[in-house]
Amino acid sequence: MDDGEEGEEYLFKVVIIGDSAVGKSNLLSRYARNEFNTNSKATIGVEFQTQSMEIDGKEVKAQIWDTAGQERFRAVTSAYYRGAVGALIVYDISRSSTFDSVQRWLQELSTHSDTTVAKMLVGNKHDLEEIRAVSVEEGKSLAESEGLFFIETSALDSTNVRTAFEIVIKEIYNSVS
Ligand code: GDP
Ligand code: MG
Repeated sequence: MDDGEEGEEYLFKVVIIGDSAVGKSNLLSRYARNEFNTNSKATIGVEFQTQSMEIDGKEVKAQIWDTAGQERFRAVTSAYYRGAVGALIVYDISRSSTFDSVQRWLQELSTHSDTTVAKMLVGNKHDLEEIRAVSVEEGKSLAESEGLFFIETSALDSTNVRTAFEIVIKEIYNSVS
């Protein structure tokens, strides 16, 4: 291999957006630390977490940003979005209002981003099947019409959490390599 190869570094910024209490902070803590908190204030103060994965034998790092709860006031700042090349847009499958907000989050994301962003629509709280309010078909069809990946996850029981982040990170990697 030529000598440029070894020093090659990949660092991608990924943001997590979506309405309050859909499980954004818990998706990140499950992915980065394998932790789940019933107390939703547990991760306040943490701006981002860096996670590494290996793709094609290379170390790829993702700097994953979580809001500090400011989405409650619809005041996620442009600094939050700046430089993001990946996004998880999260709703709660048991609350349709959070699904209805997805369009607004996509709009906000596109307003603040000047590059192509790999986007994953995430229907979280898959474990709450008995009180499901948004069908898998609704999620899929929105994702298709908006050109997003789609997955359902549970930060509570870990279903698909790693996969959700890794699909986004691989997509970013593929688009730059
Ligand atoms: P955020 O406001 O979007 O960051 O949401 P949080 O991560 O703080 O979670 C909000 C609430 O939903 C907390 O009480 C969590 O314990 C709960 N929660 C998060 N993810 C899940 C999940 O996958 N399943 C269930 N049942 N509850 C979850
Ligand atoms: Mg949070």
